[in-house]
Amino acid sequence: MTRDIECSLIKRKVADAILKSVTVLPDDIRQGLADARRAESKPLSQELLDMLISNYKIAEEHHIPLCQDTGALCVYAEIGQDVHIIGGDVNQAISDAVSESYVNGFLRKSICSPLSRANTKDNSPAFIDWELVPGDRLRLLVVPKGGGCENMSCGTVLKVSDGIDGVRKYILQSVRTAASAPCPPYVLGVGIGGNLESCARLSKKALYDDIRSDSSDPLLSDMEKELKDTINATGIGTAGSGGDITCMRVRIRTFFTHITSLPVFVSFGCNSLRKAEVVI
Ligand code: SF4
Repeated sequence: MTRDIECSLIKRKVADAILKSVTVLPDDIRQGLADARRAESKPLSQELLDMLISNYKIAEEHHIPLCQDTGALCVYAEIGQDVHIIGGDVNQAISDAVSESYVNGFLRKSICSPLSRANTKDNSPAFIDWELVPGDRLRLLVVPKGGGCENMSCGTVLKVSDGIDGVRKYILQSVRTAASAPCPPYVLGVGIGGNLESCARLSKKALYDDIRSDSSDPLLSDMEKELKDTINATGIGTAGSGGDITCMRVRIRTFFTHITSLPVFVSFGCNSLRKAEVVI
């Protein structure tokens, strides 16, 4: 039995989620900033964290963007195999929601052609990732992704003999190379396994896992904690201020891989990590 969902409903829900996501910091990231403030010992970094906390309160109260970079609008869509979308082209409906929200909401338009650099002037098209799942629901994670943290994302396919130590080394090397560019304190999403493209998706999806929850796999949970401590020991700190807290949380997702491969991808989510969920 299929369930019909109208394109017009999807468009309206995505538009509402965009406006919410650019002005209201998610609860788990608020918690991450509060925890960072409590753990921070350096006065300059404490002051900067206080400013970040004031910033999200002001943004929410006055309905203004959390950051001037209102991002590339990404949608991570999980569509139930029993859903039937009616009333038009769903990708176009989502991009139309982006266009209307960014133009009418006076949000910065950041999307351009990769070579000519000509701006599309309405922040469209949306970057949409579709995943087919069981069930009859449509879940859309709406994410305005800032360029500063996105630009530091990276990945590689290690040799199997590099092992788990090679994975750790690659992640730490990526953190050192990124330095303060991803606007710390950040969340680090790590993908391990799969193939080249699926590993990149794993790291992105890990980035948006609730940072207050723990991995059910104790190996991953321990690795996440250990990596977070090692990253914080680099002393990069909030906005590169040399403080104790560079990373609010590491989240890791894994998938099976080929016996000759060990892919690893790293995605950074800045202190303004924005996301809003729509479930229809
Ligand atoms: S990386 Fe994030 S906090 Fe930094 S400028 Fe971009 S959107 Fe803003």
